[in-house]
Amino acid sequence: MRMYQGLKPEQAAVVQRAADLSRELFAKRAEQHDRTGKFPLENYADLHKAGLLGLTVPKEYGGVGADWVTFALTMLEIAKGCSATALTFNMHAVILDFIAQLGTEEQKRRWFGEVIDRGKLFSSITSEPQASFRHKFVLSTTFAPVEGGFLLSGVKHFGSLGEHASFHFVTALIEGTTTATEGQQSALVPAGSTGISVDRNWDAVGMRATSSDTIKYDKCFVRREDCLGGIAALSTIDITGFALGYSAIYLGIGEAAFDYVLEYAKTQSFGLPEPLSHHPSTQRSLGEMAIAIRAARALLREAAQVKMQGDRRETALAINESKCMSADVGFTVTDRAIRLAGGRGILRKYPLERWHRDAMCGPVMAPANDRCLETAGRILCGLEGKTLEFV
Ligand SMILES: Cc1cc2nc3c(=O)[nH]c(=O)nc-3n(C[C@H](O)[C@H](O)[C@H](O)COP(=O)(O)OP(=O)(O)OC[C@H]3O[C@@H](n4cnc5c(N)ncnc54)[C@H](O)[C@@H]3O)c2cc1C
Repeated sequence: MRMYQGLKPEQAAVVQRAADLSRELFAKRAEQHDRTGKFPLENYADLHKAGLLGLTVPKEYGGVGADWVTFALTMLEIAKGCSATALTFNMHAVILDFIAQLGTEEQKRRWFGEVIDRGKLFSSITSEPQASFRHKFVLSTTFAPVEGGFLLSGVKHFGSLGEHASFHFVTALIEGTTTATEGQQSALVPAGSTGISVDRNWDAVGMRATSSDTIKYDKCFVRREDCLGGIAALSTIDITGFALGYSAIYLGIGEAAFDYVLEYAKTQSFGLPEPLSHHPSTQRSLGEMAIAIRAARALLREAAQVKMQGDRRETALAINESKCMSADVGFTVTDRAIRLAGGRGILRKYPLERWHRDAMCGPVMAPANDRCLETAGRILCGLEGKTLEFV
């Protein structure tokens, strides 16, 4: 592992466990998952077996209780082996953090038990076809109050984990309200509930094995005890875990491409007397990629540390900067790596083009890089700046 100086033994052990799984198992399966678009269920079985499924579950509930630095570096290592596993695991891990922040004691015991004892997965089902996170997000999905709970109706898209999640974290507006302050409610909905249908329509250029499908809720009954937090509770907690995870993941993809092309440069000569690594143009290209990666790593580590200190404004600033940089670095390094490798770089039997396709998702994933820049700029100008906002 590169640049992991300064980690405590406990942090390093978790990151190393994830890195070993990723290198020895996930990396070997990644090409097949990408090609078939099949969700990486066996990677999740391995994460559960290794005791990592509860990465963000507090220790007192049987989880790893990872701090944010450990979380970020663990995500980065998983992404180096399998982008789709890392991206979907980020959703799961961050929702578990939301439960830790908002859940009642009974809910924490119940839902954390599902993860630790039964290996269940949680998805984050928020995006909707008629809205954008670029500005303020307007929810169309509704909770109609009925005895004992609500009837959930609406359409969500980009629902990573698709039919493989056991619980959907869904946010909607209580019928009759129009703003988050008035009526935004979140709930953990069991995936098998009547009225839920998953349209297996995910067919994207990258992150192909994430099953980020469209999910429809047709008067799906949600029990009151499955609501997480009260009205607008989501707007009161720190939700930057998502963007921190994306930062780690897209940087991890860039690093995987860099490690690969470095080895390639050291070993391939294409009939020349010396391998590519002996040519100044190759050295320069590698040097530029390495600088970008080192800088993005430093920013990622700093952002995770800032988040641990708890200042929301500073956290939003550091994480938006880091997410933007990592997504750009992931994209440009995978592109540079293909150019350095030459024509072979675009062949599907090699991993570089896959990493580049996966990295394409980074800059557009909410918070999209444009939004990250605007948020960082707002905070620097002394204005209010949030990672994501709801109307
Ligand atoms: C691989 C992948 C997995 C995902 N998984 C999940 C998931 O599990 N759960 C989930 O809820 N979501 C998920 N998402 C969706 C993601 O969070 C976003 O909702 C999605 O990428 C759409 O982005 P957007 O909401 O920012 O809007 P976009 O659809 O990207 O917006 C469209 C365009 O309009 C522009 N625009 C919109 N408003 C403004 C404005 N006010 N000013 C200027 N320009 C504007 C945007 O910049 C953009 O160019 C996933 C996305 C990807 C790529």
